[in-house]
Amino acid sequence: MGKEVLNQILQKIKDYQKIIITRHVRPDGDCVGSTLGLKYLLQETFKDKDIRVINEDYVEYLKFLGEEDQQVDKSFYQDALVIVVDTATDSRVSNKLFKEGKEIIKIDHHIETCPYGDINWVEEEKSAAAEMIAELYNNFKDQLVMNKKAATAIYTGIITDTGRFRFASVNGDTLRNASILLDQNIDTQKLFAQLYLKDFNYYKLQGKIFKDIKITENGVAYVYITNKIKKKYKLSMDDASSLISMIDSIKGSIIWVAFIDNDDKTIRVRLRSRFAEINKIAEKYRGGGHAQASGAVLHHKKEIKEILADLDQEIKNYKENNQDWL
Ligand code: AMP
Repeated sequence: MGKEVLNQILQKIKDYQKIIITRHVRPDGDCVGSTLGLKYLLQETFKDKDIRVINEDYVEYLKFLGEEDQQVDKSFYQDALVIVVDTATDSRVSNKLFKEGKEIIKIDHHIETCPYGDINWVEEEKSAAAEMIAELYNNFKDQLVMNKKAATAIYTGIITDTGRFRFASVNGDTLRNASILLDQNIDTQKLFAQLYLKDFNYYKLQGKIFKDIKITENGVAYVYITNKIKKKYKLSMDDASSLISMIDSIKGSIIWVAFIDNDDKTIRVRLRSRFAEINKIAEKYRGGGHAQASGAVLHHKKEIKEILADLDQEIKNYKENNQDWL
């Protein structure tokens, strides 16, 4: 995508006095970091504008990046620009009023299926939405003013969505964009402590997960976090969801899955892979996402068996047709 769309976005930002920034529901480091980072960047640059990040949910572990703003009356939206970041479809936007905005800009790095913006800047190959915010800044360094707080939030988005720069989506641009953020003297020791430190209880839980982990014939590793386990270990939905990363490094297991009981009797599925593509299978089970990181929702326990069979077949096909997997 050319620089034209970036020029259009900057022009819209300049044109509006009120800007509302929003993101997807069930936030992660990328959408929180990119939205708050964009707010701090624009506030530092345009001191007289009214810029707010407004959403309907938040997560405890990212609150170190800052509080979000309270919802406002519909009338506030009428002459406001709404910027939606990191959200593929309008149904996943964490702000029911976002379409009340006068104009909408979509900034996203998921596969484009729903161009709901008046301007849509969507680049599927970008490692993180936060990388796109860094790129916006990088393109207009002469007109935008970065500060440490903004850089820390945006950098958090990049490191969380790239597995700390490990994922295949990381390229030279990712590092170039990240480097201008580090120039702001981000306190990385503190940042990584905020992201990594766990309660003692979590280590006990880790032991249980390692004990309970199962693997299918062709190598789909999976765990099932039931409501009972959540209760016993006092896990929030976010804590339970984060356990997927505990089973990501088993040789030959190129797909891994966490099933997590939702309170409404559905089951949240978090799917991850190396090499193999999983988003089509996620779509079959009311979900979607990226080739190597997707999510889905199951309505019955019996669907666990079905999705595992589909994923197992996917690994089988992959291993039969490719030799470079580990
Ligand atoms: P998660 O496991 O929730 O981190 O999701 C991984 C990726 O899959 C994210 O980029 C989400 O956008 C996408 N995703 C997760 N759940 C769903 C869903 N129910 N429908 C569509 N996409 C989803």
